[in-house]
Amino acid sequence: MFESFNAIVNAPMSEHTTLKLGGPADYLVFPRSEDEIDAMFSEAGANNLPVTVIGHGSNLLVLDGGIRGLVICIGKNMRKITREGNTITAQAGAMLGSVAVEAADAGLTGLEFASGIPGTVGGGVTMNAGAYDGEMGQVVTRVRGIYPGGKAVTLSREEMDFRYRHSAVTEKNLIVTEVTFELREGDPAEIRAKMSELNARRAEKQPLDVPSAGSTFKRPEGFFAAALIDQCGLKGYSIGGARVSMKHAGFLVNTGNSSKDFLDLMHKVQQIVEERVGVKLEPEIKIVGEELPSGKQG
Ligand SMILES: Cc1cc2nc3c(=O)[nH]c(=O)nc-3n(C[C@H](O)[C@H](O)[C@H](O)COP(=O)(O)OP(=O)(O)OC[C@H]3O[C@@H](n4cnc5c(N)ncnc54)[C@H](O)[C@@H]3O)c2cc1C
Repeated sequence: MFESFNAIVNAPMSEHTTLKLGGPADYLVFPRSEDEIDAMFSEAGANNLPVTVIGHGSNLLVLDGGIRGLVICIGKNMRKITREGNTITAQAGAMLGSVAVEAADAGLTGLEFASGIPGTVGGGVTMNAGAYDGEMGQVVTRVRGIYPGGKAVTLSREEMDFRYRHSAVTEKNLIVTEVTFELREGDPAEIRAKMSELNARRAEKQPLDVPSAGSTFKRPEGFFAAALIDQCGLKGYSIGGARVSMKHAGFLVNTGNSSKDFLDLMHKVQQIVEERVGVKLEPEIKIVGEELPSGKQG
């Protein structure tokens, strides 16, 4: 199946996620166009297979049993970026960092915040990714995508319903293929300086040398997840190879090879924080795939 798309069969998802965890996807493909995405959905549909769409896998915990059916990775084959005046249009697989550099080169300001977020434009729009003083919803004006079945659509910023780490992508079951950013003219030297400053702050505060999916939990209203976890004395707490980072308590990191450890650690942290400070932490990362049958550890 999916031979015409050069599918990888039994693709270990640990090689396609920044957490470096997860069992095999039955089939993994890297489309080059909307038409190919549509054809992939058709073939999956004809064979009754579920479809999962991913980008760079930087916000994903894939479980040890892997992902059944087809995984469509909108990434390396859909990375074109074009510019016209103050507008940049990028295919969904382009990395946010590359789009930020393109903007800086053109003397356009507004995307500095995104330069250190290690995901694609499609994933960034889905998550309304943000950092420091910015988030995607402030600079994205149009999102093009297709629905399973092939119908193409272009959505405005209002229709995207951007909120904290949320957009309409998931509810609408949209596959994002292209994103348009509206930026402002700025001073290239200042733009670069701001990017360097934000990335230096990131390197100082975050454990960038250990596999993670960034902040594991959303910011609870009125609190910071990292401060609450730290306050509960959980820095360095570990279950198997999964550990609360010593450098940044909001980052749960992977030093082993078990998604079950990671999931167990997430649950333990949630339980302890709720018991001790009465705040329910909600995952920011997306959990996909299935667990191994009990008794078979990954
Ligand atoms: C070290 C590190 C630092 C991070 N810092 C930040 C930060 O500062 N701010 C922040 O917001 N996040 C941060 N993240 C998390 C992550 O990088 C972002 O959420 C990013 O936007 C995810 O993009 P992705 O391409 O990796 O998406 P994935 O992780 O592959 O997918 C995320 C979600 O988007 C969906 N999706 C992906 N592409 C598409 C598409 N084309 N169409 C439809 N749905 C799609 C997936 O189904 C999934 O639900 C960090 C992660 C790491 C590892």
